[in-house]
Amino acid sequence: MQMQMQGPIQGSFASLEDDAILVAVEIKAKAIVAAGWEGEECLTVGRPGRWRAVHWWSSLIKEIYVSERTFSIIKPDAVKKGDAGAILAEIVKAGFKIVSIKKISISKAQAEGFYHVHSARPFFGELTEFMSSGPIVPMVLEKVNAIADLRKLMGATDPAKAEEGTIRKQFAASIGENAIHGSDAEDTAAFEIGYFFAGLELK
Ligand code: GDP
Repeated sequence: MQMQMQGPIQGSFASLEDDAILVAVEIKAKAIVAAGWEGEECLTVGRPGRWRAVHWWSSLIKEIYVSERTFSIIKPDAVKKGDAGAILAEIVKAGFKIVSIKKISISKAQAEGFYHVHSARPFFGELTEFMSSGPIVPMVLEKVNAIADLRKLMGATDPAKAEEGTIRKQFAASIGENAIHGSDAEDTAAFEIGYFFAGLELK
């Protein structure tokens, strides 16, 4: 990864040849972005015994490290089986912050609205019937790279094809009843968060 810096240390991260420094910068950058910091700043980065001061562009930090939000649902099959707590534990262990969460039931029409992109698919009726068959746990999650990382943690749509250790491998029974939903892109995450949560619930 090439990351240009200005200030006392000129050049790029790759030239520092030090993953430990990269990790330390990531932690500092996340903290600063979370605190709403703007403008060029001086960060102290490094590892024990080797601390450095680095002047940094805020725009660069935000582009690379700013936290992302994604949307997830623990589906009716998992809630019914009593797996919601264990699935949440996996999500938290993977480094996601839970921004908002609730347990609700939705109607078939509400499920159809949520899954409107799949309305032409042959399984649409089965899917929306299933999603309105019992309580679900929708939630908004936050971390760096949240959308892609949650998809990885969930595993393939068909649990038979999901990697070992993924949520679907551990908790899902079939392609239809597959325990968890996760947004697949930034625009779908924005739509899905807004479908289930009001602004006041997302502070
Ligand atoms: P996802 O992003 O991995 O959830 O998968 P998709 O966006 O392709 O599909 C959305 C959801 O539709 C899946 O999570 C399944 O619950 C359901 N689904 C997908 N394919 C099938 C299928 O062949 N049969 C049934 N019954 N449901 C399916």
